[in-house]
Amino acid sequence: MAVNASEEQLTVDFHPDPDRLVAHTAFLADDLLEGREAGTPGHERASLYIATEFRKLGLQPAGTDGYLQRIDFRRSRLKTDSLRAVLNTPGEERELTFLDDYYVGASLVRTASSLDCEMVFVGYGIVAQPLDYDDYQGVDVQDKCVVAFKGKPAWFPSEQGAHFSKLKVKNAADRGAIGFISLTTPESLERFPFEKYRERVGRARMTWLYDDGSLFNAKPRIQSSITPSPAVAASLFVATEKDLDDLYAMLETEERFVPFPIPGRLQLEKGSQHEAVTSPNVVALLEGSDPVLKHEYVVFSAHSDAIGMKQGEAGEDLIINGALDNASGIATMLEVARLFSGMEVAPRRSVVFAAMTAEEKGLLGAYYFAEHPTVPVQSMVANVNLDMPILLYEFADIIAFGAGHSDMGGTVSRAAAAESLELTPDPWPEQGYFTRSDHYAFVKQGIPAVFVKGGIKARDPSVDALEVDKDFRKHHYHQVSDDMRLPIKWDAAVTFTRVNARIALELANQPSRPRWNDGDFFGETFARETAAE
Ligand SMILES: [Zn+2]
Repeated sequence: MAVNASEEQLTVDFHPDPDRLVAHTAFLADDLLEGREAGTPGHERASLYIATEFRKLGLQPAGTDGYLQRIDFRRSRLKTDSLRAVLNTPGEERELTFLDDYYVGASLVRTASSLDCEMVFVGYGIVAQPLDYDDYQGVDVQDKCVVAFKGKPAWFPSEQGAHFSKLKVKNAADRGAIGFISLTTPESLERFPFEKYRERVGRARMTWLYDDGSLFNAKPRIQSSITPSPAVAASLFVATEKDLDDLYAMLETEERFVPFPIPGRLQLEKGSQHEAVTSPNVVALLEGSDPVLKHEYVVFSAHSDAIGMKQGEAGEDLIINGALDNASGIATMLEVARLFSGMEVAPRRSVVFAAMTAEEKGLLGAYYFAEHPTVPVQSMVANVNLDMPILLYEFADIIAFGAGHSDMGGTVSRAAAAESLELTPDPWPEQGYFTRSDHYAFVKQGIPAVFVKGGIKARDPSVDALEVDKDFRKHHYHQVSDDMRLPIKWDAAVTFTRVNARIALELANQPSRPRWNDGDFFGETFARETAAE
């Protein structure tokens, strides 16, 4: 039966059931689930639902307790009444007001945080050896607070830049800093105005615990990160050679920042309330049909959690249901699982279906799974991630984040072509989406990943897909209106399911495992040694 994988793939015709897609999404986005915040009863209901669906399909449990992989988390909430912040600049001592003057989140490390620090400006706070870039050159930040702009130099390759931007607080901690002052920029404010930080108040932060009780991704040296308002940020630079406008102007150029001390001190006291909670990933396995290749795994992932509830008045809608983010992604995964389970001959490789918890808290469930895999990590050949498909128009094209990094680009093109869809290059490289959802936890284990979205062209020429996308992000994303009242196009959900099913099937059936492109940054940075094939 020597049949070419892509030929065979074309002969398989999947028929996703729109009613099932609606049913899964509607259940998961119901108010009963209270916004599915990780560590809450609402998210437990979602997890039980997903496990139940896996069981109905006859999939093998691939968690640590049946389908569940339960994770120990620490949850931390900011005690806003404990906050006190004072900024001393030459000639002025000023008490700062939370939310008017600055924003801080809860500490995951300690219940009482205390800072009294000198400040050093370090540009973006980025260190990127492959780009010959180091904002810390020649500066000592030991026991100081670093002050750094959000974002990255405009000339950075976007996805690499997004990767290095994620390491800012770590860079500061590694160099002995005790606080991280994060400066908004005109560009960051455009995307996320300072006033929007109010919406984050009351949201819990979380991280998971290793077996020895230490915290994942915690930076114990750092007492706090702080985002000052643009006005307070400007006041930091009244006595420095360059003022904030001069520094803003440099953001537009390729000129590099030179670190300098900021005269004055920042003091901050903050209290955080800690709780131990658990929350599960839900993981199932469809065993491959090939006696050899079944020991390799294509991993489908989608996050099951959402934002939860917002604070507000009784009677107001407070539930951030997460219908598109990401009930629809879970619905898609469940439907692919059903289609694959119903195949006469299962895909050659095994397929793992993983509903990840705590994505909204920092891809935590995915990082946990990647570090505590329930199948051997070196045998995971590819990850296909589903996160917030914007199913509000019937798309004529798709975008595949990550497709440019590995030979999965070809896989995606063939799947798109089979559905008469165009493949559009990433229209938002500056957003660094390749680093912003669960697939990135797999990338960091050296596993090529792809993350598909509906594209920028609608089948109906009177619909401006980019406008629909923008409108969703602005008015519904992470808001109470991301619910079943949205005009979701279930035909688009069907197409989306078919495309992802085709991609995963080809990956599961192709003779050799996917490979990073030669010289690819992510491949070179994270690739693991694999046995010769
Ligand atoms: Zn999401």
